[in-house]
Amino acid sequence: MTKLNNIQMVDLQLQYERLKSDIDNGISEVISSAKFINGPTVSNFATNLAKYLNVKHVIPCANGTDALQIALMAAGIEPGDEVITPNFTFIATVEVVALLQAKPVLVDVNPDDFTININELKKLITPKTKAIVPVHLFGQCANMKEIMELAKKHNLLVIEDCAQSIGTDHYWGDKPQKAGTMGDFGCTSFFPSKNLGCYGDGGALYTNDDELASIAKSITNHGSTVKYHHDRIGVNSRLDSIQAAILNVKLKQLDDFNRRRQAAAIFYDHQLGIIEQIETPAKQDFSDHTYHQYTIKVPKGENLKLQAYLKEKGVPAMVYYPIPLHKQKAFEKWTDSREFPVSDELAERVLSLPMHTELKKEELTYICDTIKDYFNGK
Ligand SMILES: *Cc1c(COP(=O)(O)O)cnc(C)c1O
Repeated sequence: MTKLNNIQMVDLQLQYERLKSDIDNGISEVISSAKFINGPTVSNFATNLAKYLNVKHVIPCANGTDALQIALMAAGIEPGDEVITPNFTFIATVEVVALLQAKPVLVDVNPDDFTININELKKLITPKTKAIVPVHLFGQCANMKEIMELAKKHNLLVIEDCAQSIGTDHYWGDKPQKAGTMGDFGCTSFFPSKNLGCYGDGGALYTNDDELASIAKSITNHGSTVKYHHDRIGVNSRLDSIQAAILNVKLKQLDDFNRRRQAAAIFYDHQLGIIEQIETPAKQDFSDHTYHQYTIKVPKGENLKLQAYLKEKGVPAMVYYPIPLHKQKAFEKWTDSREFPVSDELAERVLSLPMHTELKKEELTYICDTIKDYFNGK
């Protein structure tokens, strides 16, 4: 096999080349208008995204971590409250809970779709529990029907972390609903490598609740709705106009971006599904998958070895996440010495392969053949 040298984990340069003229125009319009902060591009984008998601309110903010923090603040989470989150996720989901001096209650995940284990979750609800933060990990939704039923029964708020799943459909009832629009809040990120990424930092909250929306909006703006009148403690968290201009162009492409990711995933599924040692990503019938990551499982302890082999052959691959939260120093005090066997096992088994909107067939073939060679050589 001839070695391919330019395979990227995420290729944002080629994507920009395809969209260059629209993006460049959007950026220069903002610069000419000099409306850099809270300009019309930002409100346009919020309106466009709300329409796309079929949600009542979209509140842009500075990044996905802020979106989560602002949602918790708007939901009235106070010191000592318990907030249930999965243990296998990006740290931001849990960090903001601790930052507000609430108690993160970590829950192990399902071995197949890596989302929060609802049976385990049930056992951890106490009178102090105020909210659940499910994460729609790698582009696939957690089971929102079960989570919402549980939340209703125990009077809990649900804040969906949909940073990795913008545009994913969840099937529930007669029509699909977008990730992030089923709970009290959805929180997303426009970090460049996300499925809808800008060229810097950005984020947004979604909600169908008018009151929560107005509280969250005021929190993003120093707790203010009328200039220099501050009703509550807030933060300064804005999406800037240049990023909104880029997102306005890219939002129109989001379905196409996600289809391109899905096409690459189908190719991987076919090629890798026949390798005995590999488990390809599980697909749930209640959710689409938009493959923020295409994550395979290999035999225990094999993920780092395969990663090193691939690297030698010019194929980048990443372990998301190598250290589950219960093993992070910062979270030591919140595990109550409970065990998280699934997260522990996943850390030694998962490997995410190159996944983006510009993958060529030649590249996919090379990646799959290289993986086949690795297992054949054993
Ligand atoms: C990226 C990400 C975030 C945080 O988003 P930022 O914009 O980087 O702050 C939160 N949760 C999950 C699951 C993420 O993947």
